[in-house]
Amino acid sequence: MTSHSRHITAAAIALITATCGTLPVHAQDKVLNLYSARHYQTDDAMYEQFTKTTGIKINRVDADDAGILARLKAEGAASPADAILLVDAARMALADSQGLFLPIKSKVLDNAIPANLRATPTAEGVTWTGFSTRARVIVYDPLRVKAADVATYEQLADPKLKGLLCTRSGSHPYNLSLFATVIERLGDEKGEAWLKGLVSNMARAPKGGDTDQIKAVASGECGVAITNTYYAARLVKSAKPDEREAMEKVRVVFPNQGTSGTHVNIAGAAVAKHAKHRDNAIQFMEYLASPFAQGYFANGNHEFPAVKGLKVDNPALKAIGGENFKAENIPLGVVAKNMTKVQQMLDRVGYK
Ligand code: FE
Repeated sequence: MTSHSRHITAAAIALITATCGTLPVHAQDKVLNLYSARHYQTDDAMYEQFTKTTGIKINRVDADDAGILARLKAEGAASPADAILLVDAARMALADSQGLFLPIKSKVLDNAIPANLRATPTAEGVTWTGFSTRARVIVYDPLRVKAADVATYEQLADPKLKGLLCTRSGSHPYNLSLFATVIERLGDEKGEAWLKGLVSNMARAPKGGDTDQIKAVASGECGVAITNTYYAARLVKSAKPDEREAMEKVRVVFPNQGTSGTHVNIAGAAVAKHAKHRDNAIQFMEYLASPFAQGYFANGNHEFPAVKGLKVDNPALKAIGGENFKAENIPLGVVAKNMTKVQQMLDRVGYK
């Protein structure tokens, strides 16, 4: 090839790219345009397998949850997005309330995924579906707090724990989802009193992420905190000795084992409202429910499979007691119903 023809080829490619964009939109294409808030290397093998078995090529756009929502809204009906991966029921509920998802009907998903891990069904179908779960657990300092005093979420509001509690922001999606289900169980009045109790037990104003709360318990700044299981599992597996030592100083409790079960949240997927490859997107979601994909989807981030009856062998989750626990079975659809109410309660009780 002469340098001249190479030049033309490069120009032609630039023209094709400019004309079509990087994400093809023709309905007959064997293509899936995926907007993903998950960035785990293990996911690549999962996507490759999908392409190998279906011939459908995946074009992935990686962004965080807020970025994906903003992009979908800005693109409107012209959006090339076919499927969307997000983490957390509260974020799913928010996107759903903004009309960004297309309800779908799938017998495969109906059979594979427990109904409580999906959006509330309507006559049109179901919008979002959870494909992995993470538990929201309590970590505590065994030198300052007794296990019996932190066996339930309700006990976190007990004056016994005054000056000991640390959490990330109350209005972070992980906490909004947890609080939405607690309020569903306790009712509004008791639920708000519970939130008020959490605020009066704070060791410090809410700040940082879940990992920061675990480290603050290990350092003695806090006596008890709340975290998603995968953050604790990551510290168990950390390459940094000080992070592994931090995990050795704290204990993990799966709350409410004798009552309602431990709150679990989801990472999940939905078909985009304006999907040009709707059938491919549904096929992709059904693939995510297969045992092969479940192994990658869950294990890639130290999570639990969402599909009924599937288990993953994850030593880090085992180490924190995640092998066998009773999970809450309140439908995560209530997160959508209670989210605004919870935010108003947080404002009233001064939960930052
Ligand atoms: Fe997270």
